[in-house]
Amino acid sequence: MAQIERVHVLDEREKSIVTKQGGCCSGDGMSCDTDSVSGAVSQRACVYCGARVVLNPITDAYHIIHGPIGCSSYTWDIRGSLTSGEDIYRNSFCTDLREKDIIFGGAGKLTKAIEELAEVQKPRLIFVYSTCIVGVIGDDVDSVCRLMSQKYKTPVIPVKSPGFSGNKSTGYRMACEAIMQLLHPHKSEKKIEGVNILGDYNLAGEMWIIKNYLKKIGVPVVASFTGDANYDEMIQSPAAALNIVQCAGSSTYLASRMEEEFGIPYIKVSFFGVEDTTNSLLRIAEALGNEEAREKALKFCKAETKKLEGFIEKYRKNLQGKKAAIYVGGGFKAISLIRQFDVMGIKTVLVGTQTGKKEDYEIIESLVDEDTVILDDANPAELEAFMKEKGADILTGGVKERPLAYKLGIAFCDHNHERKHALAGFEGVYNFTKEINESINNPVWEYVKGNAYENKNHVTCKSEYQSL
Ligand code: SF4
Repeated sequence: MAQIERVHVLDEREKSIVTKQGGCCSGDGMSCDTDSVSGAVSQRACVYCGARVVLNPITDAYHIIHGPIGCSSYTWDIRGSLTSGEDIYRNSFCTDLREKDIIFGGAGKLTKAIEELAEVQKPRLIFVYSTCIVGVIGDDVDSVCRLMSQKYKTPVIPVKSPGFSGNKSTGYRMACEAIMQLLHPHKSEKKIEGVNILGDYNLAGEMWIIKNYLKKIGVPVVASFTGDANYDEMIQSPAAALNIVQCAGSSTYLASRMEEEFGIPYIKVSFFGVEDTTNSLLRIAEALGNEEAREKALKFCKAETKKLEGFIEKYRKNLQGKKAAIYVGGGFKAISLIRQFDVMGIKTVLVGTQTGKKEDYEIIESLVDEDTVILDDANPAELEAFMKEKGADILTGGVKERPLAYKLGIAFCDHNHERKHALAGFEGVYNFTKEINESINNPVWEYVKGNAYENKNHVTCKSEYQSL
């Protein structure tokens, strides 16, 4: 295994940071999918936040955070999931636990909160999230939820997500358990034509783009988890013929539980980039054994790819030879991003994920150059050191990585839940390519590095880097 030696990292982190030489990711080569190392200041969020990522976009659900008010600051305003119907999910409800509740217990306060919501708002579905302190004081959240479900004939579902009870992936799993609890009473022996979309959160309307493609090739969508999801559609999902999983990190567990308990097979897909979008549509048609859909997918993707040819060529001239760093949540997105950068002529010099699995890292390894740094569950110090060492021109990541890039004076592209423009499908290729160009070639970076004043040929006007 080729370990990185030039940058100091904690001894316990060494097996999570490797380069490609020596078959680093295969076998026992790389450590991933484990709890974060204490003291390493991981970029991962807590268990509760992981659960919230998955469940928050359900548009007609009421989300009660059982804990201190601070936990509920993680809410709709930092997520970009859109709705075509209800918008109650854009509110958060919290039991606001205080010192007295911690001493005498918070179950009574939770009961009152649910009663008030049930009587005033008449909800169809409530999720109750346990936070750290609830895990410590041991409120019987299960019993409260069971009693309230019976009293109001409404699903009140506990989400077991004390922040300290694992890592962000544990939160994903707890959210999937909560969804399974919702779906169980609706188990169906009879299958209907159509698919469920798992692990897409309708960021900037991306779920609508995917649904539109499936409509074009004649594949009905039964339910979505959880972008633009609603109660009525979700309870139909056990009857679907196939599950397609976009964000594998958050939703593979749900897909495997649905396969086990409802007999629905699943495939992993990605709608980021031309190659992955095309392959995904073809694989969906093939998995359904639908030859007509396959033919339609082939024709549709061919036409869309052709439209993009001249566009990508134009931008390639501006981007060829640049270097990208990628740090995202799951492995599948990282894989798609490496491919997209490759098409643009950009080399990926650093790639990492918060929750990637061994099989994801093996694919990543097969796509990158020998000297590309591959790292799992990184911290800001490691990202900074390796981006500097590799001379990255742009970092693609989420809200926690943005300040790091700007402090280093390099470009940044938001590919996480906070963004406001779609990056999925063929539409996403236009947006992504333009954004990368505008960010990477922005004259501000030359000024930040102090080169602009010496370089007579530097780009001086906004229209020059946007002119494509
Ligand atoms: S659940 Fe725990 S770790 Fe998560 S936000 Fe609340 S206090 Fe912080």
